[in-house]
Amino acid sequence: MSRTKDPRAGGAAAGWNVFPETGAQTIVAANANRVMLASGQTKTDYVMGWGSLMLGHNPARVSEKVAQAVSSSGFAYQYESPDGIRLAETLRRHYPAAEAVRFTNSGLEATMYAIRVARAYTGRSKVVKFEGHFHGLNDALLYNIDASERPGRRKVDGTLAPMPGTGGLPENPRDLIVVPFNDFEAINSVVQAYRTDLAAIVLEPIAMNIGCVAPDPGFIESLREQCDKNDILLIFDEVLTGFRVGLGGAAERFGVQPDLACFGKAFGCGAPLGALAGSSAVMEAVEPPGVVPISGTNTGRRLTMIWANAAMEELEQPGTYERLFELNELLSEGFRRTFRDAGVPAYIEGYGGRVGVHIGHDKRPRNMAQICEKWNRDLHYALYKDLAANGSLFGFLLPLRLCPEPVTVTLVHSKDDIEEAMSQLRAALARVS
Ligand code: PMP
Repeated sequence: MSRTKDPRAGGAAAGWNVFPETGAQTIVAANANRVMLASGQTKTDYVMGWGSLMLGHNPARVSEKVAQAVSSSGFAYQYESPDGIRLAETLRRHYPAAEAVRFTNSGLEATMYAIRVARAYTGRSKVVKFEGHFHGLNDALLYNIDASERPGRRKVDGTLAPMPGTGGLPENPRDLIVVPFNDFEAINSVVQAYRTDLAAIVLEPIAMNIGCVAPDPGFIESLREQCDKNDILLIFDEVLTGFRVGLGGAAERFGVQPDLACFGKAFGCGAPLGALAGSSAVMEAVEPPGVVPISGTNTGRRLTMIWANAAMEELEQPGTYERLFELNELLSEGFRRTFRDAGVPAYIEGYGGRVGVHIGHDKRPRNMAQICEKWNRDLHYALYKDLAANGSLFGFLLPLRLCPEPVTVTLVHSKDDIEEAMSQLRAALARVS
């Protein structure tokens, strides 16, 4: 038997912690928006738990409630608890489509169950997803994600050849149809062609995993209309947008309610939590009384419920989202000014503190193919590497393989942090240009 020094496969507990170019990231302590690296250096975090830590690391009131539960009332038991009812009520209060709620341990589980529920409810099997939209490492939807090597292999009917997003997946998933985002014509023709076989259309209502690409005006409305006409379920993956672009998520922002919605990340602010929610009628497919079990050893664990309830209370404080949107604007404007001053084209688009920086673009990319066409990958990587080596910013301008990962600010960042980040970016631009 071979024993390597580090028993973690690939030297990491979670593969996403191995950043491109800079390698596995080890943090030994964290508070608010500061992280301490194994080297002892302290940096300002711009990844923030992949967007989940809306209240920062160690939010005092949340930590207090978690500590209390751990020390006093039994935290790891399964079974129902009043805390679970309270959390479901909070979700329903803010998100009108969430008439019935089930909890999961991750966003991936929420999207996995969403597809099962949609198939069970409609009795149909085909599902439409959009290129570049990421729904977690869920086999059913893990095609044509941000890691596609050849985006936009377009077929004559306007759909895209499915491309597995990881190894170990079938080359040709039977019931998945992939369509370019914001392509009205392609989605119309897919719905016409398959309308009696389609269980669901699933999307990130703002494509936050490819540098924040918003839907074209009318796109989401048109999906809603076509789903209604053809008894297809509309599923919003709000894992990133939920409780980030507002308490009512993207549904509230666009004024369009889905039939099913998936939550994670900011819903819980770091707790190992996700949720699937939807209309009472559709959620009847969940057992009991329906045929789709949503359960597991850790599902709805009391500590997770307590943690998330405490986090929700903080997010509900007056002024929370005003403050977050102000930071979003400051950061977006900062990027625009800094790249303009350096004479580098960059299109900036951000929502709820998640700001996409499309270096190389002078206008809004509307889908994955347009992102890839103009993204100045070399400059983006060079800036990221330079900033990681020289400054005090952690994960700032982190790139993915084919597109930018948005920069994340949360309620614990400040105007001064943003000014400092822009000053370091200016210096990096001068060094690498
Ligand atoms: N959906 C979206 C939109 C996501 O961004 C992610 C994670 N990046 C997921 C689902 C999966 O969530 P989790 O990491 O909790 O499995």
